[in-house]
Amino acid sequence: MLNLARSITKDGSAFSVAIDATDIVSKIQEIHHTSAAVSIALGRLTVAGSMMGALLKNDQDSLTLRIKGNGTAGNLIVVSNGMGFVKSYVDNPSAGMLTNDCGGIDIQKVVGSNGMLSVVKNIGLKQPYNSQVPLISGEIGEDITNYYVTSEQIPTVCALGVLLNEDSTVKCAGGFLIQLLPYADESVIDIIEKNMTNIKSVSKMLDEGMSPQEISLKVLEGTTPNLLDEREVIYKCDCDRARTERILMSLDATEIKNMINEGKPINVECHFCNSKHTFDIGDLKRILALKS
Ligand SMILES: [Zn+2]
Repeated sequence: MLNLARSITKDGSAFSVAIDATDIVSKIQEIHHTSAAVSIALGRLTVAGSMMGALLKNDQDSLTLRIKGNGTAGNLIVVSNGMGFVKSYVDNPSAGMLTNDCGGIDIQKVVGSNGMLSVVKNIGLKQPYNSQVPLISGEIGEDITNYYVTSEQIPTVCALGVLLNEDSTVKCAGGFLIQLLPYADESVIDIIEKNMTNIKSVSKMLDEGMSPQEISLKVLEGTTPNLLDEREVIYKCDCDRARTERILMSLDATEIKNMINEGKPINVECHFCNSKHTFDIGDLKRILALKS
């Protein structure tokens, strides 16, 4: 399914990205067994990560979003490549079913309202681009918007939504992102602002059956927008045995010797997909020999 679409206004003043991430957030639940509140929080961050990744220039570029807040979920991490393929991790997937005053799920309590959002972009330069901004709400959409405005000076609208069924499975999830390009026309800005005051929530639009293509055009309605492209994005972990071996290789020789002396094979579990990579004593001896 083509679940990520990008559109641009006719005059090139602004562009939009929209995603249907229902399958991606379902996959997060399957892998991490997240509570309802964490499904929403990590789901929102993952939706943002995929769209932000899809804005990178090259497919092999990557982007890491990390929220380190004072909420009960602990660290929330999303890694996306330049195609928008994502993987996510949370310290405490079962963090509480806390409710706010209206009886809804309080995302702020699991994310935290104090903390930092960090964005690391690997775009083929010697040093990765690295930026941190304080959380402003812990609702994630506003925090991403604030990151773009304060850190990259790009006027941005970011809307994220994860809607759960009564049994906490994912009904729909997705988001959209609008950004102004330099020297954006004032009249286009006015139209987009007006669109934003009238638009339905992104989860409502998805729930009503709108496609990412339709949403990406809808948010730019009135500016004669054109569809730029559509693609399929999925939850995908790129871990493998060779990568895990490189991590072992980076350990101290004494640490590897200790593992060998214990005489048991070791299992290295990937935090993003729960795959286990096993290294027996022979493997550990080979790795130790390669180090010296
Ligand atoms: Zn993995």
